[in-house]
Amino acid sequence: MTPLQLFERQTAHFKANPNPPLAHRIQRLKALREALLEHEQALTEALWKDFYKPPYEVEVTEFLTTLIELDHTLRHLASWIKPQRKPTPLVLIGTRTDVHCYPKGPSLLIAPWNYAVLLTLGPVIHATAAGCPFVVKPSEHTPHAAALLTSMIESIYPPDEGAVVMGGPETATELLALPFSHIHFTGSPRIGRIVMEAASRHLASVTLELGGKSPTYVDVSADLEAAASGICFGKFSNAGQTCIAPDYLLVHKDIAADFTRHLTDEIARAYVPGAGDADLASIVTPTHFRRQTELIDDARQHGADILTGGGADADSRRLEATVILNPSEETRVMQEEIFGPILPLVVVDNVEDALERISLRPKPLSTYVYTKDDAVVDRFSQSVRTGAVCKNTTMLQFVQPFGPFGGEGNSGIGRSHGEAGFRAFSNEQVVLRRRWGSWILRLVQPPYSPRSSWIARAFRKFT
Ligand code: NAD
Repeated sequence: MTPLQLFERQTAHFKANPNPPLAHRIQRLKALREALLEHEQALTEALWKDFYKPPYEVEVTEFLTTLIELDHTLRHLASWIKPQRKPTPLVLIGTRTDVHCYPKGPSLLIAPWNYAVLLTLGPVIHATAAGCPFVVKPSEHTPHAAALLTSMIESIYPPDEGAVVMGGPETATELLALPFSHIHFTGSPRIGRIVMEAASRHLASVTLELGGKSPTYVDVSADLEAAASGICFGKFSNAGQTCIAPDYLLVHKDIAADFTRHLTDEIARAYVPGAGDADLASIVTPTHFRRQTELIDDARQHGADILTGGGADADSRRLEATVILNPSEETRVMQEEIFGPILPLVVVDNVEDALERISLRPKPLSTYVYTKDDAVVDRFSQSVRTGAVCKNTTMLQFVQPFGPFGGEGNSGIGRSHGEAGFRAFSNEQVVLRRRWGSWILRLVQPPYSPRSSWIARAFRKFT
């Protein structure tokens, strides 16, 4: 079926079923859960074929994370779906107001490759929970995982309710020309702009889950061993191809030497030297791989030191866990989202210096602070407009299902996960019922007279 045919079928289906019952949504979500577990082994193998993603990492960062989202939704959907009674101000006496969440309508989901399972199924879970038919386009860069996800989704949803369209930019462009009610896009800020422009033609609502440079500050008071371990996991799992990975480090000058030692020790403990460690995923395509090696070359040319790593193997597209010491502001690693296992470490004077450097860049998706001092965390929280500030940990905000998760400006628009994900696909519809007292409004209706004004002024006391 062409994208247009799918869209028309889903539109007709939605017209006939504008509010699928809770039991139906739950049934689909449970089937999705079952299919996910059934395909666990095959998906793990697919991700190995796609970019040598380590199987243990798949378990933690794909299956556990997706199941957290799925189970949270199954547990709470009944309460999210319930109409919410709102209080009645005195001026509205005699009325009752409820807010109902109804599905927005056929929705388009465009997924990235970096967490092919989690980030394709996440919006599928939320669209299903909200009762929206959907067309999902997985990324073309993880074809093995995408093929399995397609057969999984097609085994659960009839095309009127849920369908997969495979393809790259051309297919995405074709899909974006259709007047979907909501578009959920996860990917780069560059493509996010294209998506938003396309959505504006139909005034479709958007959730844009984008990326950017997430800073990590290591304070003078930090537990340096714990900081090195948390940063190492956040940065190098999935070989740094994570939207919320620490992108660059800002390290307080008084502990910089000690911390650097802890960081290199931690990398040596976690990974085998050389660019062949099976615990480090490879870079997804030769083009992406080339870009990573260019980033390292560029830093070298600007006189930065490679503290550890730097090795690369073009055949397996593997890159060593790499730390670059004090690259200048002009280097590409300090200008672009890195999205690979390269970590710039910049020594800063203090909290203010770190905040100043962060403010020079677009609003980050996440901000990490390693410190023992909550006042420092508060300082970051109040100063940086970002999706999440985490103290002494990385990545965990993603699996806090009570969320919400999302970015701001360059790092995204809207929120997803848990209830926020459900609401993104829902139209919050007010139902206001006049129960008695229809005469009240008549007091301020035409024919107007000085009395209307007197009454309107009297009403001001009851707002
Ligand atoms: P990408 O923007 O290159 O691609 C994302 C999706 O957009 C793919 O399905 C791709 O086929 C599609 N696409 C490509 N060209 C398009 C076009 N012209 N019009 C419409 N769609 C098009 O991103 P990627 O390389 O897959 O993922 C990496 C980026 O995604 C990083 O910037 C990362 O930070 C971000 N990301 C964000 C989150 C989040 O939750 N905020 C999660 C993962 C990744």
